[in-house]
Amino acid sequence: MYQAATDRYQTMQYNRVGDSGLKLSAIGLGLWNNFGSVDPLANQKAIIHQAFDLGITYFDLANNYGPEPGSAETNFGQIMAHDMKPYRDEMVIASKAGYVMWPGPYGNWGSRKSIIASADQSLQRTGLDYFDIFYSHRPDPETPSEETALALDQLVRSGKALYIGLSNYSSVQVKKMAAIFKEMKTPFIIDQPRYNMFNRQIETDLLPELAAEHKGAVGFSSLCQGLLTNKYLNGVPENSRANKSTIPFLHPAQVEQTLATVRALNELAQTRSQSLAQMALAWNLRQPTMASVLIGASRPAQVVNNVQALDHLDFTDDELAKIETILAA
Ligand code: NDP
Repeated sequence: MYQAATDRYQTMQYNRVGDSGLKLSAIGLGLWNNFGSVDPLANQKAIIHQAFDLGITYFDLANNYGPEPGSAETNFGQIMAHDMKPYRDEMVIASKAGYVMWPGPYGNWGSRKSIIASADQSLQRTGLDYFDIFYSHRPDPETPSEETALALDQLVRSGKALYIGLSNYSSVQVKKMAAIFKEMKTPFIIDQPRYNMFNRQIETDLLPELAAEHKGAVGFSSLCQGLLTNKYLNGVPENSRANKSTIPFLHPAQVEQTLATVRALNELAQTRSQSLAQMALAWNLRQPTMASVLIGASRPAQVVNNVQALDHLDFTDDELAKIETILAA
């Protein structure tokens, strides 16, 4: 039977989400990949245990994570029931609705019908009584914002979620939703955008908007799916995301295109006595709005390596300038 490490709260940092009462571990574990029905359950357990033992409290799911869609929630539910139940109140568990999940007009997007049904399905798969954070996974161009917001508000009022988040919304869309939530007193506290050295679009509009609204952010694909690590420095390893046919989101061509930049970043990381992954995570966390950065992991050792980013978060002006130069080249 799993026993959590007694020193699990000694090194992790916990950052407040906007001006809410909630704090998140500076590094969160995402279950988008490596937790599906195609992945060995023993490895999934080992990754979750390792993360929790290092003080990671934030676990990020969505209805469609797998593959098969839904299987990450089912597997997580099994691990919760078997091992993690005694620790439920030490965990922030999130799920999302918004991408296609079941056939017909109601299994997708952001209608009231779709969101409430999807949240109920997610609770069933995970066996949880409630989610700590429930996200609208993406804006729905055809459903009125008020309807999506009201559905999310209802999840809170009915005890199925404690806090509400948005993901993949533009700054304009966040502003609009924030105004609706404010009127209803919905605990909307967090936005989940993509953020890493190769994807910085949010710096100019979304992050300032969230700061102005006193909301927090949690970045996803913090390592650009593994590109911002030492993994691909010498080619594409067989057992890597870029080489997996079940994961169509990262291609060997992207590895090739980014290699020169990644090599230069890796050299800079070495001068900081950090791995590239650690430097990339520290760099994401330099944004004051960024309460947490989500990592994916295919093995426990990656979690260990990534959490060590917290040992060296500061950057000198010179290092920041060098990163800008490398990224601009
Ligand atoms: P990352 O950018 O962290 O990429 C994770 C991958 O990087 C791992 O699977 C592993 O690849 C590799 N990796 C991680 N650490 C190391 C290391 N130390 N050394 C070498 N390689 C390493 O994250 P994801 O793209 O997986 O996204 C993280 C989470 O963000 C998701 O699980 C999900 O929760 C969330 N997300 C949300 C989205 C949204 O729309 N809201 C969209 C996408 C993600 P390998 O498997 O090759 O070993």
